[in-house]
Amino acid sequence: MNRVRYSYLPQQFSNPNKILKEIKEVIEQGDFTLGKPVEEFERKFSNLLGVKNSIGVASGTDALKISLRALNIGYGDEVITAANTFVSTVGAINEVGAKPVLVDCDDSYCIDVDLIDASITERTKALIPVHLTGSMPDMNRISEISKRYGLRIIEDACQSVLASFNEKKAGTWGNAAAFSFHPLKNLNIWVDGGMIVTNDDTVADRMRLLRNNGIRNRDEVEVLGYNSRLDSIQAVVANSLLPQAVSDTEKRIANASYYDQALKIIPQVKIPDRTKPLKQVYHIYQIRVANRDQCVKYCLDRGVEVKIHYPIPLYRQKALEFLGYENGQFPVTERHSKEVISLPVDQYITQTEQDIVIETIKEFYAIN
Ligand SMILES: *Cc1c(COP(=O)(O)O)cnc(C)c1O
Repeated sequence: MNRVRYSYLPQQFSNPNKILKEIKEVIEQGDFTLGKPVEEFERKFSNLLGVKNSIGVASGTDALKISLRALNIGYGDEVITAANTFVSTVGAINEVGAKPVLVDCDDSYCIDVDLIDASITERTKALIPVHLTGSMPDMNRISEISKRYGLRIIEDACQSVLASFNEKKAGTWGNAAAFSFHPLKNLNIWVDGGMIVTNDDTVADRMRLLRNNGIRNRDEVEVLGYNSRLDSIQAVVANSLLPQAVSDTEKRIANASYYDQALKIIPQVKIPDRTKPLKQVYHIYQIRVANRDQCVKYCLDRGVEVKIHYPIPLYRQKALEFLGYENGQFPVTERHSKEVISLPVDQYITQTEQDIVIETIKEFYAIN
């Protein structure tokens, strides 16, 4: 039995009766596909972010894929993204026939903006900045680069609902943005689900077609698309959690700050720069530590469930061999894979549990 658990899902849904009752109503009405709960969630999500269009889809991966398709990105095009992202960012680019071009990250865990220019070719069509861990890169500079070269921006905001840079929210900077409601994301449902947001009504119309097999109405098919609808039943779950999205986010931020204060005195611990004009939402509370593997083992042996995101950099995975990247080509991503550790930071963790995490790490480094 862990003294401090990483996953809070059993706690989060310990009393699902209210949700189940509402799901029963959907079942009684047979409102299963693109029903009222989906429309309600899309409307509320648009309000939460201050965007014109939200389009519910089957996953965050599909949100990326459909965004790329809707923006006419495909064969022969190159799309730049971060070397240290989750696999599906690269998978989505590949799915539409475009070539993923990776760029190293910096110590914010996001794409190193200084390195983007050098990766742009005449084939580059889009940038997918990934707001990893709930952090964000300097989106002002990324917007500037996109204007200079005429590139589209699709934000991979799957880990960063309610994050913002310069007071402007994640998902509102680009031509489109992808969110995920996978059970482990900050705003979660019971299966897979995702959302695309965009302020462009024409692109939104195309996205709505693409998620529903290109069907305009009962009789007409306009484009070949996908079966990628957000489930009505799951939209009920999303609608039930949405009212607490802001307070859950504030709780995560407060928990992260509690860790920061306690851990910053440990010389072997490196905390990311917190002075940027950034509202980080801590999908993951990730720090860099000396002797990472021993530290992780020490924590796990003492019932403190910590994680590593990710021990093997994506560009060195077998699935990406065809891109031809070499070992060590992304030195910061490489270094992070040996240094990063993720501590539980969710909205349900107690201060007592956080103290146990802190004490365990201090003990490992023999700090009193
Ligand atoms: C989770 C995640 C995705 C994919 O979302 P799914 O809903 O699991 O398909 C894409 N990018 C990043 C950075 C993610 O964390």
